Amino acid sequence: MVSWLKGSGCCGMAELEGPEYGKADFVLLDEVTMEQFLENLRLRFSQGRIYTYIGEVVVAVNPYQTLALYGPPMVERYRGRELYERPPHLFALADAAYKAMKRRAKDTCIVISGESGAGKTEASKYIMQYIAAITNPTQRAEVERVKNVLLKSNCVLEAFGNAKTNRNDNSSRFGKYMDINFDFKGDPTGGHVHNYLLEKSRVLQQQPGERNFHAFYQLLLGAPAALLSSLHLCRDPSTYCYTREGAQGDVSGAGEDDASSYRAVEEAMAVIGFSPEEMGSVRRILAAILHLGNLRFTQEEEMTLVEDTSGVSVLAELTATAPDSLRQALLTRTVAAGAGELIEKGHSPKEAAYARDACAKAIYERLFCWIVGRINAGIAARGYDARVHGKSTVIGVLDIYGFEIFDTNSFEQFCINYCNEKLQQLFIELILRQEQAEYQREGITWQSIEYFSNEPIVELVEQPHRGILALLDEACLAAGTITDSLFLASMDTRLGHHPHYTSRKLCPTDKTMEFNRDFRIKHYAGDVTYSVEGFLDKNKDTLFQDFKRLFYNSADPVLRAMWPDGEQSITEVTKRPLTTGTLFKNSIVALVENLASKEPYYVRCIKPNDQKSPTLFDVERCRHQVSYLGLLENVRVRRAGFAYRQPYHRFLLRYKMTCEYTWPNHLMASDQEATQALLEQHGFQDDVAYGHTKVFIRTPRTLVRLEQERAQLI
Ligand code: ADP
Ligand code: MG
Repeated sequence: MVSWLKGSGCCGMAELEGPEYGKADFVLLDEVTMEQFLENLRLRFSQGRIYTYIGEVVVAVNPYQTLALYGPPMVERYRGRELYERPPHLFALADAAYKAMKRRAKDTCIVISGESGAGKTEASKYIMQYIAAITNPTQRAEVERVKNVLLKSNCVLEAFGNAKTNRNDNSSRFGKYMDINFDFKGDPTGGHVHNYLLEKSRVLQQQPGERNFHAFYQLLLGAPAALLSSLHLCRDPSTYCYTREGAQGDVSGAGEDDASSYRAVEEAMAVIGFSPEEMGSVRRILAAILHLGNLRFTQEEEMTLVEDTSGVSVLAELTATAPDSLRQALLTRTVAAGAGELIEKGHSPKEAAYARDACAKAIYERLFCWIVGRINAGIAARGYDARVHGKSTVIGVLDIYGFEIFDTNSFEQFCINYCNEKLQQLFIELILRQEQAEYQREGITWQSIEYFSNEPIVELVEQPHRGILALLDEACLAAGTITDSLFLASMDTRLGHHPHYTSRKLCPTDKTMEFNRDFRIKHYAGDVTYSVEGFLDKNKDTLFQDFKRLFYNSADPVLRAMWPDGEQSITEVTKRPLTTGTLFKNSIVALVENLASKEPYYVRCIKPNDQKSPTLFDVERCRHQVSYLGLLENVRVRRAGFAYRQPYHRFLLRYKMTCEYTWPNHLMASDQEATQALLEQHGFQDDVAYGHTKVFIRTPRTLVRLEQERAQLI
């Protein structure tokens, strides 16, 4: 299908040149312009060459079709090879990260970025598959177990953390960072998953055409009838408010078979080590959320009541809580009235509905975190003793949401885009740092490069006391009196002067900014207008202590374990919990620190069109992505120094035939001298530098000319 798959063993450098294939590395473009970049990307995409390098960065275009690129023969083609020996591929990158980890005992990480539907999660899975395929040649049982659990964990995480959206049928609604630990032999001994900001509002509501998390439909459509009836559920997702939208017309079961996924997830959970009891609890908790969503409240003589009381008894049964306590938690809240006194305050029906939804979101989020924790227990390195087994090294794989610009952008997009600013900052810094480190290692003079710094944007968001997150927390502290609009007004006053912030007042003629509701941030990826509506609520993320206590006292050990903070009484809850924004910021700061301590490898994913078409290359959509992923900048950085580098012996292997002093073998004291002689004979001496182990070529043109010399001889 793909022509270079059929070719002979060696196509590496040859594949770098040739108009019909496009350039395998963007540094080889004649000129670094957007047009040339896009044309190269398009040409390669049209031939099923979905991977292209920028130096050591892999640019990947989602093919939207099954390509024969990932089977065992491909693994063999890439195993142990250097990056440039084979056509660009994720496997080459995974191998490079693996080699660095194994040979140099370096902790490495692979950062995968791109917008929703660009192919990040698929890429992360191929990378893990590759690593699993090339490790444990001696088939040690414990290593096999770890590999199996690592691979199976994806299936479970996707069931609970992914959903169908309008952009992607299997969209990850959380960020994921997975560490894989290796022993000194280079075999996986364990791992750990960190999850970031699950989009829990999806539990309650979905956009038209979208679905709730897969797990709900899998349970409804896949569970045996007897089990369903024990959970008081019926098969039809449209029975339940929370899954109704996702049950409409062609949305239901879209693109995937929920029933067979149900069985696959059950099996994966068993392999990971979830006990049958735990799996029972998980199913009851999912069912409880569906029942919770169907509760309605009415008012009778100043009293709020649950409309259908049988719903409460079903819920009490599923959550193993006392029906009276449950009803009370649904209809009232306990507040401290000073001097250690507690009073009970009844909810209005509206307040009760709000509390119900907050509760459903919180249960699901905690369930998800509990599942991640349980997976981590299943893949934790067992019996690993550094004194016996040597230093453990790590490969981290980051698959996290890309930049989001929707028609309406809310608090979630604000957090996600802040995260992308941080990662972009790291990307530029690390790419430069890595280049610099290599030049230093090789003893080559380095001139620093000017590049765009998004520091001011990051500061605008995260600066203590002055940044948007700090102002938001301040507004949340002043609870009650402050509204979203007042928060916006305070931002306008205090940030109005910031070059990356635009308030309504500053652009009164701008019709796209609705009065008193929107603000705009000039992100590195473009301007994004955020609707301030719901910022305070989402940041505060209040869940009444009554619910926490209720579940903490549940007889179900899993549900109980999810609410350690339920132990406190109201009077003890004096310290406010950290806000969503602050928690997210802290987790992203920690993530960035962690990544910065590792040797990074990058995959930049591009979505070629919005129709999921394997043939359509939407130039404008791609232009936008190339621009905000900073790919042209990346090429420039790479070219500003030396576009190419090769160990001397590899360089000679390829080009020795072009020079009489080196063909068939040189008689000089070293490969370096021979390389020097060869390059001088061609008159390239001004465009190269000689490092301790590698030759560095500044401009791609030199390499192209060398290739031409070589081509004439073969
Ligand atoms: P993201 O995680 O970036 O949102 P996904 O990795 O879920 O995107 O990819 C979206 C969809 O695109 C997948 O479900 C799959 O159908 C298709 N896809 C992505 N990468 C590939 C690939 N390498 N080969 C074939 N199809 C792919
Ligand atoms: Mg994904």
